[in-house]
Amino acid sequence: MAIARVKTIEEQRAEQKAALERIRNGLATRVRILVPLNACPVCRAHEGAYEFDEVPELPIEGCSRPGECDAVYAPVLDLFGP
Ligand SMILES: [Zn+2]
Repeated sequence: MAIARVKTIEEQRAEQKAALERIRNGLATRVRILVPLNACPVCRAHEGAYEFDEVPELPIEGCSRPGECDAVYAPVLDLFGP
């Protein structure tokens, strides 16, 4: 896997914001923050599902390894299934 150029916090923030907007405009009713197992404890503590107006901004404030913890937004779809 190629190692990408390290992004600035501003770039990451803009990307995450765009991702959140796409999820908000889709079918999701809520948004989940997914955090990798190797993320720092601050990020791990923020893992979970949120209402759109309550979800914290990514990268997570107080993260001890900004740029290394790749927490992401993911849609929560309550309306799937039969
Ligand atoms: Zn972190």
